[in-house]
Amino acid sequence: MTTAPELDQPHVMNTYGRLPAAMAYGKGCRLWDVNGKSYLDGLGGIAVNTLGHAHPRLVPALQDQIAKLIHTSNYYYTPNAEKLAAKLAEISGMSNVFFCCTGLEANEAALKLARKYGHDKGIDKPQIVVYEHAFHGRSIATLSATGNPKVQQGFGPLVEGFIRVPLNDIEALKKATAGNPDVVAVFFETIQGEGGIHPMRVEYLKQVRALCDERGWLLMIDEVQCGMGRTGKWFAHQWAGIVPDVMPLAKGLGSGVPIGAVVAGPKAAHIFGPGNHGTTFGGNPLAMRAGVETLRIMEEEKLLQNAATVGAHLKSALQKALAGNPGVREVRGQGLMLGIELAKPCGVLAERALHAGLLLSVTADSVIRLVPPLILSTAEADEIVAILVPLIDAFLKE
Ligand SMILES: *Cc1c(COP(=O)(O)O)cnc(C)c1O
Repeated sequence: MTTAPELDQPHVMNTYGRLPAAMAYGKGCRLWDVNGKSYLDGLGGIAVNTLGHAHPRLVPALQDQIAKLIHTSNYYYTPNAEKLAAKLAEISGMSNVFFCCTGLEANEAALKLARKYGHDKGIDKPQIVVYEHAFHGRSIATLSATGNPKVQQGFGPLVEGFIRVPLNDIEALKKATAGNPDVVAVFFETIQGEGGIHPMRVEYLKQVRALCDERGWLLMIDEVQCGMGRTGKWFAHQWAGIVPDVMPLAKGLGSGVPIGAVVAGPKAAHIFGPGNHGTTFGGNPLAMRAGVETLRIMEEEKLLQNAATVGAHLKSALQKALAGNPGVREVRGQGLMLGIELAKPCGVLAERALHAGLLLSVTADSVIRLVPPLILSTAEADEIVAILVPLIDAFLKE
């Protein structure tokens, strides 16, 4: 079989097991490839395309911005940076923001904040609690914090200063940190994304918040994937009524334009001073405009509500259609962040779904992940079910 020219990339490093499609354009929750075949987008560029593709209000705003200014450097002020930071502070209940470009960069900044928080208190070798199956990115520090040997394999020695604990077990957390004066922070995703859509329970979130207060630790919550409205609240931890001290964001914040942010509350807002941290592209005028417009459009189009209602509809439709199938372990998740765990590895389903006209991904070997744009309609959710369920049924009979 010969490969179509657009699927041949001899000069691009082979870091992804790519599927055989090259996308040409999109509109709403649909994409078209270079051959004109259309796909329903159940993946949203991995929880990035909050407003779908070619949103009719985002596109002219970005065109306007590109025609004016793309980048100036952090030597000068960018008015939309303050506007976006103020908005993020308002919706998070926190106060100050550092802007960067990606999720790993936001997490790296959070880890540096936690270490400096420790050093400022006289702790020379600060330690940070992290979790099994966590994913925080692929820099050396963030892959060290990640709880997946596949991500770490081949990149040792890992960064030290991490203590790893299981999810949702407050006693295990207390035991792992007992009598340790060097602990400075607890760091986790409210709903683990790459790890297989595993949520932290509301009760546990409250217990960890209380423990962090009691011990003077920073509570750092990686909302890179589960945040930005995906679960029906701005940030997934808000279902527990808690506020973290540090919150890295990225993915959905710019609806496709690269942007990351670390939001900090009073305990962490003033740890960094001039010269402590920086990034050339962070907070540039294009990314800031994308963030400001994304949040504005999300509010005006009530997309948090849409994520909650369409997500609940999709989850229950999947549960109903897959009920009684012994090969389906669980349909879980919240809002438009859903996982279908099968009893066997199902990586092949990503390509089968592609051929059937549906984009999705498989994480943790056996979990089908759906993280579509937050503009998904009920009819589109039904279409996902109609394409996906027969594929799962056929796969489980093999
Ligand atoms: C994707 C992701 C990251 C890494 O983000 P990049 O932009 O790929 O660096 C970090 N944490 C979580 C929870 C993620 O889902």
